[in-house]
Amino acid sequence: MNQEKSIFSKIIDREIPATIEYEDEKCIVIHDINPKARVHLLVIPKKEIATLFDLTPDDKDLMAHMMLLLPQLANAQGLDGFKTQINTGVSGGQEVFHIHIHLLGN
Ligand code: 5GP
Repeated sequence: MNQEKSIFSKIIDREIPATIEYEDEKCIVIHDINPKARVHLLVIPKKEIATLFDLTPDDKDLMAHMMLLLPQLANAQGLDGFKTQINTGVSGGQEVFHIHIHLLGN
């Protein structure tokens, strides 16, 4: 079956543009197209995982990697504090079904 790529996979594959703040072999960090704070970053794994419900123990290092990036990103943006959010499922307000961590700071 041919499954449609998520919008974030299209950004990772440079099929659609985004403002990229950081990238490594495991993840990409972009600026949210509709920022809810002065700094609004999205930390996105390159592996397409739909929601937190779909994580497996194999994803432990990947998730830890993304968590450890958050303070580094905040420091680089000059933030002395920030909020994080992971929307999960339709009833959790998730719109893009490719896991991402919102990092928000003013
Ligand atoms: P969530 O799925 O957690 O509700 O939120 C998805 C987030 O992705 C939203 O804050 C939305 O503004 C952002 N977003 C959706 N499409 C794009 C896009 O094409 N580019 C960028 N940079 N952000 C996007």
